[in-house]
Amino acid sequence: MLCNFKDIINKKVLEKQDLITMLNAEGDDKVLLFKKSREITDSAIGNKVHLRGLIEYSNVCVKDCLYCGIRKSNRKQERYTLLDDEVTQCAQYALDNNYGSIVIQAGERTDAVFIAKITGLLKEIHKISKGALGITLSLGEQSPDTYKAWFDAGAHRYLLRIESSTKQLYNTIHPNNALHDFDNRMASLHNIRKAGFQLGTGVMIGLPHQSMENLADDLLFFQALDVDMVGMGPYIEHSDTPLFEAGHLLKTKQERLNLAFKMIATLRILMKDINIAAATALQAIDPMGREKAIKYGANILMPNITTGNFRNNYKLYDGKPCTDENPADCNACIDVRMGMIGSSVGYHEWGDSKHFKKKQTKNNIVWEP
Ligand code: SAH
Ligand code: SF4
Repeated sequence: MLCNFKDIINKKVLEKQDLITMLNAEGDDKVLLFKKSREITDSAIGNKVHLRGLIEYSNVCVKDCLYCGIRKSNRKQERYTLLDDEVTQCAQYALDNNYGSIVIQAGERTDAVFIAKITGLLKEIHKISKGALGITLSLGEQSPDTYKAWFDAGAHRYLLRIESSTKQLYNTIHPNNALHDFDNRMASLHNIRKAGFQLGTGVMIGLPHQSMENLADDLLFFQALDVDMVGMGPYIEHSDTPLFEAGHLLKTKQERLNLAFKMIATLRILMKDINIAAATALQAIDPMGREKAIKYGANILMPNITTGNFRNNYKLYDGKPCTDENPADCNACIDVRMGMIGSSVGYHEWGDSKHFKKKQTKNNIVWEP
């Protein structure tokens, strides 16, 4: 039986073909899609947006992902790692500005020195914030023991994007070696969950050779993995990376942005109570990109709070926004920007995934900061 678009977005169970139809929506259908996702966000999450102050800890990376500006082989990139004091200053900045949480993100390192350094920093941040700051990590693939050690040291959410859930596509954007193995990345997602973290993943949208079917599969992958959080955004080429050569295969930046918005809205309809982040890459294409993403179903904002000197060097892609500003310049406008789209900021709150909490309640586990 043929369904009209309204029937599809109201279906109880969304199948792959429905998701593809939603991702292809334009005109009146797209308006309906965004309206529906907003309604669901309001009823399942509310209109509050929660902040994660993003600390870009280091751009040193042992990996060579073909799309990323801080890949190991990019010799043009100067390298930095924040000093301990600089990290605690960023955490203090988050506290002083009433943020509920921070994210520590970096290039990937798995050496013992790095692992111990992060463990120590987590304990220190826990101490200075008296446990008030929620901590998310985004530090790549690690061993089960490392995940456990970092969880025990005070982090409680972890983001590891699968980049693409289609193995074949994943392999076209990574070198073909053990360090960039799709199955290992998948195993890491399970190990992160096993360690106790709220689990977040995501994909890049608008990759060369990526089809609507691939993107629908990504959404079904998030659902099958029953993730607690998703951060996904447009792929943006970086001129000093191998994937830049595939530029002729890309959709325009506006088309990638449009698709990213529809991915967010469709995901919100599919997984009503998870946390969805408005990725910084959205803002690289459209100055209001993150606000629009929130309007269409995202509920997490990750303002960059890395100290000014270094953020120019954490260039995953060309045109990364806010790199020349101090954190305070960005912070001043958050309330205004959120107010403009009818949202407010949940200061002092962790804003954990409701989806995760529901699962815990079901399993009779109490989770309090
Ligand atoms: N090293 C860690 C975390 C830092 S990279 C990791 O890889 O998990 C964080 C994310 O930045 C990656 O997961 C990827 O999805 C995104 N990213 C990297 N290069 C990008 C690009 N050129 N365009 C858009 N997103 C990019
Ligand atoms: Fe390193 Fe992450 Fe960039 Fe890959 S995406 S090169 S792991 S920083």
